[in-house]
Amino acid sequence: MADPGVVVVGAGMAGLVSALQLAARGLPVTVVEAGNAPGGKIRQLQVNGAGIDSGPTVFTLRWIFDEVLASVGTRLEDQVRITPLSVLARHFWENGDRLDLFADPQASHEAVAAFAGPAEAQRFRDFCAQAREVYDTLEGPFIRSTSPTMGRMVGDLGLRGLSVLTRLGPMRSLWDSLGRHFTDPRLRQLFGRYATYCGSSPWEAPATLMLIAQVEMDGVWAVDGGMHALARMLERLARAQGVTFRYGTACARIELQGGCVSGVHLANGERLGAQRVVFNGDVAALHAGLLGDSARAAAPRVGPRSLSAVTWSMHTRAEGLALDRHNVFFTGDYRSEFTDIFGQGRLPRRPTVYLCAQDRGTGVPDTGAPQRLLALVNAPAVGGQGRLTSEALDECEHQTFSLLRRCGLTLQPQARESVRTTPDDFHRLFPGTGGALYGQATHGWNSAFARSPAASPVPGLFLAGGSVHPGPGVPMAAMSGQLAAAAVMASLGSTSRSRPGATSGGMSTRSATTGSSA
Ligand SMILES: Cc1cc2nc3c(=O)[nH]c(=O)nc-3n(C[C@H](O)[C@H](O)[C@H](O)COP(=O)(O)OP(=O)(O)OC[C@H]3O[C@@H](n4cnc5c(N)ncnc54)[C@H](O)[C@@H]3O)c2cc1C
Repeated sequence: MADPGVVVVGAGMAGLVSALQLAARGLPVTVVEAGNAPGGKIRQLQVNGAGIDSGPTVFTLRWIFDEVLASVGTRLEDQVRITPLSVLARHFWENGDRLDLFADPQASHEAVAAFAGPAEAQRFRDFCAQAREVYDTLEGPFIRSTSPTMGRMVGDLGLRGLSVLTRLGPMRSLWDSLGRHFTDPRLRQLFGRYATYCGSSPWEAPATLMLIAQVEMDGVWAVDGGMHALARMLERLARAQGVTFRYGTACARIELQGGCVSGVHLANGERLGAQRVVFNGDVAALHAGLLGDSARAAAPRVGPRSLSAVTWSMHTRAEGLALDRHNVFFTGDYRSEFTDIFGQGRLPRRPTVYLCAQDRGTGVPDTGAPQRLLALVNAPAVGGQGRLTSEALDECEHQTFSLLRRCGLTLQPQARESVRTTPDDFHRLFPGTGGALYGQATHGWNSAFARSPAASPVPGLFLAGGSVHPGPGVPMAAMSGQLAAAAVMASLGSTSRSRPGATSGGMSTRSATTGSSA
């Protein structure tokens, strides 16, 4: 019987990578995407005539993209223009303190010495050495592993890896571990923030998450045209491999026959036959039965939700402070942010503010003209429950912009210069999530093993994206897309159809079969 091909549900990062790699191996692939553009969370909003990156802004771990593009015979630098940033991030405190971290480790060391003294700078060096070790130890046995379990990982780590983790204290929280490294509370606060990169609290995230600091120290790049250019690039390459994209097309149900995937039903009533489906939405949607009762078995458990956010996409003047591309503004009361969010399920009364100044960092001078900005504060994933009133959101906005002002930055966007996105909006965009942006929280030492692997318990249903292994973030989602493509190929029992090499042009006629609505 002719293989009806693969349907990929969702054109987020992982869905795009899966689609590209499966098509490159000769499979007919159709991507159905509820939204109107590729990228999912990698979205760009038009504000006052300017395209503002309003999802991810920090591009790291480019080696994952190098591998993805090499697998289809091309190179990242041949497809998009990316620029390494010399300043990784600029950090401000309300008392006027300021610290830059640099791509050059020596420059960071000197900056920390000037900021907190030579003894703390030595502790920073020791922290960097340990973060490097943890990253190196976990890259193979965890990040690249198809389906890590504690037992398998212990086997893969070897004696050296085990001793790295034992020294770290595998049960310790990131916050505790940072307290052993730093005596300066500002540095503990700064490095604790890396837990939020995967939507978690530094007090509950395991110490292993210090590897995220290493990820950033390995390099941060700016992408010409914004992060959305990455998604558009992958879509272009996938189309060239014959992938069919159907936007504005939500999948309403994944169909099973005899316990195996047999197709998908679209919200418009159409049915696409397929023996293999890659689901790139959040597994919480499967778990909640949003893709049909029978597909629930693919996500039997989901852990507590990760962070959501309130964001402001702006095109406005920024006055009073020299911004770099990535800026973080800290308050004095860090812990309350996480007790408010995870303990009380409310917006933080004293939020830390991340501000991405998208026109800065690549040498373009600040002329004082309106610039592209994204401000983000963490928020509870309670979208869709009617719990976040407009008064609470306005108060959060007031706190956010007041903190910026106290740190010396004045932003006064007019209504047309700013678009606010809330957990309710994220919940609408990413069904089943409550607005959680990073799948389930990485809380507790074994939470990283609780994420589903690419091959779900339902034959023919594969999972890809930030809510499954190896976890959230653009590069991790890309890795997950690769793992899902590999799992699909393994399910076919052969990788011999491989067709590497980017080909040009043309829509495919090899789409999944279309049948009548059932
Ligand atoms: C504001 C914000 C800031 C972030 N900052 C960073 C950062 O700086 N660096 C970083 O690396 N990461 C960051 N992240 C996280 C990163 O964006 C995500 O982890 C990653 O992009 C998720 O990719 P994904 O493959 O899971 O797909 P998603 O982006 O979640 O996309 C899934 C797609 O599936 C579609 N879909 C879902 N259900 C259906 C259905 N039933 N039918 C059809 N289509 C469906 C959705 O419409 C969506 O397009 C940020 C995220 C946000 C929102």
